[in-house]
Amino acid sequence: MNQRKLRVGVLALQGAVREHLKALEKCGVEAVAVKSNDQLELVDGLIIPGGESTTIRRLLDTSGMVANLIRFAQAGKPVFGTCAGLILMAKTLVSGETHNLGLMNIKVQRNSFGRQVDSFETELDIKGVTGSFNAVFIRAPHIVEVGDGVEVLSKYDDRIVMVREKHLLGCSFHPELTDDNSITEYFISMIKESQAAS
Ligand code: GLN
Repeated sequence: MNQRKLRVGVLALQGAVREHLKALEKCGVEAVAVKSNDQLELVDGLIIPGGESTTIRRLLDTSGMVANLIRFAQAGKPVFGTCAGLILMAKTLVSGETHNLGLMNIKVQRNSFGRQVDSFETELDIKGVTGSFNAVFIRAPHIVEVGDGVEVLSKYDDRIVMVREKHLLGCSFHPELTDDNSITEYFISMIKESQAAS
């Protein structure tokens, strides 16, 4: 069994990085801002934050991190994509855009809650996590299709907004923007599970 503290990375190229780092620290793990392949090597799991998915992808390309990130996930290391991060996790995008990384067997639509309502908050029931999570949606995507092996953890208004596929987790909203750390804790428990299994 591993004696050191769990080390969880937050991809720190653009977006809501600090809030995720703070939430992780509150949960008692070592939180690391990941900006390079060397830093990626050091972490036990990775959060891809919300922000602008096209920008994050461009910065991943210029940092030479795309192949390493895909390998990281394929090696069974847990990855959690939130909002723009969820878009990057998807196998396909409804728009036909190709900046996604194809990690999860899901099809995602960007900016799917309408231009009029750029952001909103709602209570969600999240399977295996909590019956009432105050979720903040900001120009959020949703999941239009899930493939084999993908478990739906939450829906809002009949739209899928949170999924898990083995060691991979994705949600449409920003779990790091409220004081409720239950989703961050859930992801940490996935990292512990993956370590116990390896
Ligand atoms: N609309 C953004 C995108 O398409 C995602 C918004 C967010 O991460 N809050 O990348």
